[in-house]
Amino acid sequence: MTRVFIAIDLPAEIKERIAETQKVLARSCARLTFVAPRNMHITLKFIGEVEDEMLEAIRSALQGVSADPFEIAIRGVGANNLRRPRVVWSNLEDAGKTGGLHDAIEEALAPLGIEREERAYTPHITIARVRQFDPSLLGAIEQVMAKEFGSFRADRYTLKKSTLTKQGPRYEDLMEVVW
Ligand code: ATP
Ligand code: MG
Repeated sequence: MTRVFIAIDLPAEIKERIAETQKVLARSCARLTFVAPRNMHITLKFIGEVEDEMLEAIRSALQGVSADPFEIAIRGVGANNLRRPRVVWSNLEDAGKTGGLHDAIEEALAPLGIEREERAYTPHITIARVRQFDPSLLGAIEQVMAKEFGSFRADRYTLKKSTLTKQGPRYEDLMEVVW
C-alpha cells in the first residue's frame, strides 16, 4: 500500500519566508510541530493508502486533468480556529483557481471510487500544528498575520507518496502533471 496525495509545490523563496514566520511562532509558549520548508505545499487532494493497481489508475486519470496557468499569491497567516488553533496556516489568493483544480481532480478520481471530500475545500499551506495550546500563540499569530510571502505562476501539480515516520513525514514525487 502507498499513501498518496496531490499537491502544488512552492518556490524556494516563498518557503524561506514562511520559515522566518515559523521562528516568530516558535517564541510563543505553545508546543508546536513545524512543517519543514522542503515539505511545505498546497494540498489539492488527499487520497490516502492505495494498492498498486489503484495507483496506476490514478496516474492515468490525472493525465487529463489540468487548468490554464494561474497566479497564486501567498498572503497572511491564520488558523483553523482563531481562539484555539490546532493548525496554523497561510492563505492563498488565487481567484478560486486552486479550488477549481481541486474540483476537477475529485471529478476525475470519483469514477475510481475515491470519495469526494465532505468538508468544503479551503486551499492553504500548513505552517505548524499545535501539540499543546498556550494563549501566547494568539499574540504570535497576530504579529505575523499580515505577512506577504510572495506570488508565483502555478503551472503544475504533483502526485506524492507520503511515508510517515517519527521524525515527520517524508514526501516523494511519483508523477508531475504540467499544464
Ligand atoms: P503527519 O500526518 O505526520 O503530520 P502530514 O500530514 O504532512 O504528516 P500526510 O498525513 O501523509 O502527511 O498528509 C499529506 C498531506 O495531505 C498534508 O498536507 C495533510 O495535511 C493532507 N491531509 C492528510 N490527511 C488529510 C485529510 N483527511 N483530509 C485532507 N487533507 C489531508
Ligand atoms: Mg497527516
